[in-house]
Amino acid sequence: MADKSNAQPPEKLTGIELTEVPKTSVGPKAIGSALSHIKNEVGVIKGIRLLKNLNQKYGFDCPGCAWPDPDEKRAFLAEYCENGAKAVAEEATKNKVSPLFFATYAVSSLSKLSDYEIGKKGRITHPVYLPEGADHYKEISWEAAFKIIAQELNALHSPDEAIFYTSGRTSNEAAFLYQLFVRQFGTNNLPDCSNMCHESSGVALSETLGIGKGSVTLDDFNHTDLIIVMGQNPGTNHPRMLTALGEAKKKGSQIITINPLPEVGLMNYKDPQNPLKWFGSGQDLTDLFLQVKINGDVALLKIILKLMVEQEQKEPNSVFDHDFINEKTYGIEDLLDDLNTYSIAYLLPQTGLSLKEIEQAANLIIKNEKVIICWAMGITQHKNSVDNIREIVNILLLKGSIGKKGAGTCPVRGHSNVQGDRTMGIWEKPKHDFLDSLEKEFSFKAPRKHGLDVVNAIEAMHQKKAKVFLGMGGNFISATPDTEFTAEALRNCNLTVHISTKLNRSHLIHGKKALILPCLGRSEKDIQASGEQFVSVENSMGVVHKSQGNLKPCSEDLLSEPAIVGRLAQATLKKSTTNWSGLITNYDFIRDKIEATIPGFKNYNQRVRIDGGFYLPNNARENNFKPTHTGKANFSVNSPSDIVLEKNQFMMMTVRTHDQYNTTIYGLNDRYRGVLNERRVIFMNPKDMKSLGLKKLDLVDLTSHFNNQQREAKGFLAVPYSIPAQCTATYFPEANVLVPLKSTAKWSNTPTSKTIIITIKKR
Ligand code: SF4
Repeated sequence: MADKSNAQPPEKLTGIELTEVPKTSVGPKAIGSALSHIKNEVGVIKGIRLLKNLNQKYGFDCPGCAWPDPDEKRAFLAEYCENGAKAVAEEATKNKVSPLFFATYAVSSLSKLSDYEIGKKGRITHPVYLPEGADHYKEISWEAAFKIIAQELNALHSPDEAIFYTSGRTSNEAAFLYQLFVRQFGTNNLPDCSNMCHESSGVALSETLGIGKGSVTLDDFNHTDLIIVMGQNPGTNHPRMLTALGEAKKKGSQIITINPLPEVGLMNYKDPQNPLKWFGSGQDLTDLFLQVKINGDVALLKIILKLMVEQEQKEPNSVFDHDFINEKTYGIEDLLDDLNTYSIAYLLPQTGLSLKEIEQAANLIIKNEKVIICWAMGITQHKNSVDNIREIVNILLLKGSIGKKGAGTCPVRGHSNVQGDRTMGIWEKPKHDFLDSLEKEFSFKAPRKHGLDVVNAIEAMHQKKAKVFLGMGGNFISATPDTEFTAEALRNCNLTVHISTKLNRSHLIHGKKALILPCLGRSEKDIQASGEQFVSVENSMGVVHKSQGNLKPCSEDLLSEPAIVGRLAQATLKKSTTNWSGLITNYDFIRDKIEATIPGFKNYNQRVRIDGGFYLPNNARENNFKPTHTGKANFSVNSPSDIVLEKNQFMMMTVRTHDQYNTTIYGLNDRYRGVLNERRVIFMNPKDMKSLGLKKLDLVDLTSHFNNQQREAKGFLAVPYSIPAQCTATYFPEANVLVPLKSTAKWSNTPTSKTIIITIKKR
């Protein structure tokens, strides 16, 4: 019998070095780091071929974040950032995980490695199978693999006993086929990584503005007066956004940054495209930094709203856009009544800020007409995260700062096609109109019952109500909360299947039987019966564009994601009338079906071939709020945090390092925070450390507290850092074990990875 595999990264320290936090970001250091990664992973010649096509109109889309490419001219050689270069280097790595590798290394022993070490093993070259009780994966033919999955799926008592997860790398074509297969199989159990990141944005924006996506385009940054960046660290997570911020500043815009950590990328940067600027002091970005306490955002935004109201009362028409409010919105009275019920004295302590600092922010909002508010996980992963986003919308609506050039909402998505996958129907709560279209086009009865999101899917697997898990991309165990609970849930399954490019921990935490199906990467050529194919993706601003790899696939035994889905559907769905094999001969046929079933894709095949692609319709951008339940843009009433910390309790948020993208760990450094060669750290306020009797780099154990339950993560080094009192930060996935599965956001059910109550004990 195999040993039980380790669900968590090992508690091994790797030799920390602390350096001074840099004063500027990007510049030559970023270029050096990217190039050395490319050289080590892929080699110089292949690396040049790879990078010259990255994010070009004729090339392939970066598998990193969803920040948009410029509509017009792109940089000839380098239309990417340090982390984009690292992402493609990881995918095109020369390291291979072959059947011989699996014969040599047992699953249980591989699981003792860190996520970084596992990821460095490289690309999986053949489909492999782990039979029940075995500890080594073995090569299997594609036919046999599809047969095993089909048998397991068709043996279930109900299609709802299967979970079909999607990560945000999946292309539009693969995602469309995948959801079609799943719905023809008979379930809406389509959880995705969006459930864990921007679900709160989708919920809040749909309710208030009638579309679950942001309203701005990249060009809006060239026409705005004021940009507010909240709960976001673009220097690491969306680095090319710094260029947009830099350009906006040159054109006279101001920037407010609101975050518990002073992230260097937002303070100052050196344009990597401009060598002449590498040696000066860099460009300052942030004009006003508000170091808010974790989860103090609603309180902060309420104070700003109260100050706006106060000024409007003092000087009518100086703050509010009354024409916009009267014509386009609903519910301002309720908002104003609600604001009256809170005093600034009550709200202020939640923010950790002085009233003077907040007044400065309010004054900038009051005096500027066109405002863009950007946000990411620092806003979306709290119990009251939907409140956070609705409060952001309240500010924009009072200013009439939406649906016009240079103004609007900007939720910045974290994975390259996470937005496109949702557009393609990867959603556990599909709309009836969409299902009606699918039924009409494909002649089948689509399931109407809502399916399971990520949290509910884990719960169902844990209770043995779901028995088969299939992951289209991603690294489920390292991306999800409550690591040990989620591992038990996966182990309960009869079969776990992962469609992947590289080895990751989710292949090692498996069901009774397990399969890994290796697929083509974005950078690789995809050749089907009709010839070379391309796929398409949608970025954070709703631009759909093509992506075509140019490299020889790393193995002849890989299939593309659409081909895997098509062949799996053929093997599983005996009564389907869909021509699955025909659809995958030429992806134009898939795009024709998307055009026939999803609004906004008229002439898809034609428009996707235009350089740069095309914009999907966006009602909020067009100043039309008819899709909301009132037919207008809705003001809302929102709640500040209700968390009260006891003595010696701290709020913890999980963050990424600079050498990490989602669950992929490129290296062990967090250069922008001055932490080298170590991931098991906890950033703490120096005064808090003193009160606990902790010195720099003392070893501590962490315990989280939720509903009288405790969870433990051992062996972290305390690092004094600029962070508000009673706030701490750790890296994921190491600290995911502390995030309780049931601690989720109201309405969106997103795990609250940014508000975890912990205590800290010195070893
Ligand atoms: S900003 Fe995002 S999409 Fe662009 S190159 Fe960097 S990681 Fe890739």
